[in-house]
Amino acid sequence: MTEKRPLEIILCAPRGFCAGVDRAIQIVELALQKYGAPVYVRHEIVHNKYVVDGLREKGAVFVEELDEIPDTDAPVIFSAHGVPKSVPANAQERKMFYLDATCPLVSKVHVEAQRHYDEGKEIVLIGHAGHPEVIGTMGQLPEGAITLIETVEDAEKFEPKSANDLAFVTQTTLSVDDTAAIVAALQKRFPSISAPHKEDICYATTNRQEAVKQVAPHVDAMVVVGAPNSSNSMRLVEVADRAGCPKSGLIQRASDIVWADFEGVNKLGISAGASAPEELVNEIIEKFAEHYDITVSTEVTAEENIAFNVPRELRA
Ligand code: SF4
Repeated sequence: MTEKRPLEIILCAPRGFCAGVDRAIQIVELALQKYGAPVYVRHEIVHNKYVVDGLREKGAVFVEELDEIPDTDAPVIFSAHGVPKSVPANAQERKMFYLDATCPLVSKVHVEAQRHYDEGKEIVLIGHAGHPEVIGTMGQLPEGAITLIETVEDAEKFEPKSANDLAFVTQTTLSVDDTAAIVAALQKRFPSISAPHKEDICYATTNRQEAVKQVAPHVDAMVVVGAPNSSNSMRLVEVADRAGCPKSGLIQRASDIVWADFEGVNKLGISAGASAPEELVNEIIEKFAEHYDITVSTEVTAEENIAFNVPRELRA
């Protein structure tokens, strides 16, 4: 038997599940326990196939829109990313029993946007077109009330109706550094633009990016456990690249590892997006242990102790 090559693994902490994802998954599980299957879920409850498949096996039925759901007394759950106002309105019209798993930190952005609108402000949303959270936030207000800005160039070209009555909000899972550059471009052109009272990029996104930023310059490669449609996971790969890590990429499952990519890698950083469960991190570490003589240490850059309550209907 050939001797295994040594590989030093540094785990970034915090990584993986955040309080909003944890709450959303609990809502589906508790609804299944309390009301039985089926439980309908609009959109992937969180962007992770392993989580979605596990809930599907327990009786959750995932749909993209409410019109795919037959008339039913079964609960209908809205995903952690939030929904446009038209969705609960439609559910009410159809007398559906719905439970909202929107992360409270996304709801905070919705409330903020509404407040700016009520004050007569024109709103800029910094975010990624097409992401369900962006669709949900834009759908809090009538069409045209919010302008989406994705880049510094967009901020430089943006022509408001009135430069003195502006406010901005952001998606919760953006790159902290990219967003700071876009905000700086907006503030340079519109010094009176209102900013969020407290950062819209959530604690989980910020902490996971900071941990990757600390570890990335000291490793030969960085693996981010997460899905390509998970915004915060994709941002972690970018953060690793920019922090000077020679190679970084997403891995969803241990079976996705391409061993040739790790030739010459002696030190490996591992993180996980906010929707990636720790089981998948462990599965991937175990796979590396089959191929290498691994040592594992953890770099902790922040402690997290945030938890959100589930809706009243599901509390014990
Ligand atoms: S990443 Fe942030 S905003 Fe999104 S669910 Fe988690 S805590 Fe909430």
